Amino acid sequence: MTKLQTGVKEVDLYINGEYVKSSNQATFEVKNPATQEVIAYASEATKEDVDKACQAAREAFEHGPWRTMTVAERCNKLRRMAEIMLERKKELASLDAADVGKPYEMALGMIPRAAKNISFFADFFEQQGGEAYPMDDEYLNYTRYEPVGVASLITPWNVPFMLTNWKLGPCLAAGNTAVIKPAETTPLSVALLGEIAKEAGIPDGVVNVVHGLGNVVGTALTEHPEVDLVSFTGSTATAKKIMENGAASLKKVSFELGGKAANIVFEDASLEKAIPESIRAAFMNSGQVCLAGSRILVQRSILDEFIEKFKEAAMDLKVGDPQEEGTKMGPVVSEEHYKKVTSYLDIAKEENATLICGGKRPELPEHLQTGFYLEPTVYVQEDHTTRLCQEEIFGPVVTIIPFDTEEEALHIANDTDYGLNGVVWTENLQRAHRISHNVRAGTIWVNCWFVRDLRAPFGGFKKSGIGREGGHHSIEFFTEAKNICIALK
Ligand code: ADP
Repeated sequence: MTKLQTGVKEVDLYINGEYVKSSNQATFEVKNPATQEVIAYASEATKEDVDKACQAAREAFEHGPWRTMTVAERCNKLRRMAEIMLERKKELASLDAADVGKPYEMALGMIPRAAKNISFFADFFEQQGGEAYPMDDEYLNYTRYEPVGVASLITPWNVPFMLTNWKLGPCLAAGNTAVIKPAETTPLSVALLGEIAKEAGIPDGVVNVVHGLGNVVGTALTEHPEVDLVSFTGSTATAKKIMENGAASLKKVSFELGGKAANIVFEDASLEKAIPESIRAAFMNSGQVCLAGSRILVQRSILDEFIEKFKEAAMDLKVGDPQEEGTKMGPVVSEEHYKKVTSYLDIAKEENATLICGGKRPELPEHLQTGFYLEPTVYVQEDHTTRLCQEEIFGPVVTIIPFDTEEEALHIANDTDYGLNGVVWTENLQRAHRISHNVRAGTIWVNCWFVRDLRAPFGGFKKSGIGREGGHHSIEFFTEAKNICIALK
């Protein structure tokens, strides 16, 4: 079994309990976006490799002990899996940091969250009951929640390990088997999941990992007749393709997609709280967060003060080497993505937005000269219908949009195709509730941001998704409810 070493790594596919090369030996480069250095060669799965992974997952589902072992036994193995992740947290974090270009400290913080996703769903599933209707004398009706089958988990590059385990926890706890496809830009940490599962005693074939391009490997997976359900986090455009490709075999889908959240700051807000959290919401992970507060709606009476303080805090962020202590923002993930993000600098100019700060490469030491860096960039734009204010940029670029009244703020907040989340800053309780009820989005944070309770539903309205993840919402997706009716006479 290939063990990943430091230095340039070889990242293989993981099928039926072992690392394997691609059947045609093809590989692709994985680069560190801070330096453009090649850090790994990943095996690029062919359609045949995807088929092998799906067949292995099917075999493990139908004939392996995973589905039929007691829930307690299955969940104990998952808790062990979470422990192994914690034991290996430094290694996993350094892989995510190098792969995504995110500050190491931030990557390190995400590994316990990933492990918690596994142990939480093990505990949660173990406590699930069903319904029973024992009062009639003629029939006894009761329900069981059974696994669906083979799940394909397709995940993005911004928070690779955490987001994959967010799906894997409920998938496995419910007794399904999985074929995981991490993003081709960031496969390193997720590549270890098969090996971690095996070490935890999870049977071969239950966790498989394939690497490669979305339109080849992703398509092969989502068209595959043995795949019963697809849990996907990524772009709205890809979700549409997955739906089309999965239609022939009528796959169950769960989509967590893009966002363009309104972060609404009223004149009665505590700026002491609102400014640092709005900075985090704008620039955490270089703004590559679907929940980013990328449209900052600010009441006009406090506009000048907000801009001044926000600009100062944005310019204060330490942009630099993700591996260096104290770095708050690294590069964006890849050259292709850098081109996309920086194209919005031209769009902003064409749309007459006012640049407050940023908009260029930061000054950096020699070894980072080739990295995909952009300074924290802040615009003011009065017209919220512009592309700058409507399209998901997924980079360190935010726009302040002034408003006068609460009605206007609500109109701007909702005048978008997206509806993943919203944020409101106010000390007025009634207003906090009014805004929370009327913003059409799946999560509303009041005087906070990015607080996650694993029991609560997470997902988007409108083009931000289909379905919810979290607590019993995840369990519903990953199970089939069965009603059993027994004649008593
Ligand atoms: P982004 O635009 O942020 O890179 P994508 O939606 O393209 O987001 O990527 C998210 C995940 O979806 C990645 O793992 C990617 O490889 C995968 N993917 C891309 N295209 C397809 C596709 N046609 N079918 C299935 N998965 C895909």
